[in-house]
Amino acid sequence: MDLKKFVRDIPDFPVKGIIFRDVTPLLKSPQAFKFAVDEMARILSDVSFDCIVSPEARGFIFGAALAYKLGKGFVPVRKPGKLPYETVSLEYQLEYGTAQLQIHADAIEPGQKVLIVDDVLATGGTAEAIGKLVQKLGGQVAAMCFLIELTYLNPRERLKGYDVRTVLKY
Ligand code: AMP
Repeated sequence: MDLKKFVRDIPDFPVKGIIFRDVTPLLKSPQAFKFAVDEMARILSDVSFDCIVSPEARGFIFGAALAYKLGKGFVPVRKPGKLPYETVSLEYQLEYGTAQLQIHADAIEPGQKVLIVDDVLATGGTAEAIGKLVQKLGGQVAAMCFLIELTYLNPRERLKGYDVRTVLKY
């Protein structure tokens, strides 16, 4: 199946110069959504891990579907002030300014092997921050998996040392 047909390019969203890769047509198609999650599982078949960690909001969709399919637990990473229990935070650099992500302090056991999942790998800043959060809790990043990789932003440069797997490359 040509999954790229189900990814809609929206120029100049949310700001001028960005091509937003909109996965809502893919999610709406039962065949494309299933194929996308099955492909993620297929390219990860040799990776051993205990749980999946994903950021809000679209990361939850693919991360949770993959966790269900593979029989793994799911751990959410959220923007500040959303998680109800004790959290660990990490501030990271955006193109303009900084952002913060949080994870529950007891979400990962020391030594646990974690798979990080999101819809789009752009600059790699979010994935790098989540990797640091996982390591703060004593977890090990087994691999990172994304439906879409924007190769022209060179995210792998930033994620050197991590095992990065992606289904679609632009
Ligand atoms: P980054 O931290 O730059 O790798 O950005 C990754 C996060 O931002 C992911 O959670 C994506 O959902 C979102 N994102 C960044 N750039 C795009 C884009 N061009 N199209 C769709 N989502 C994007």
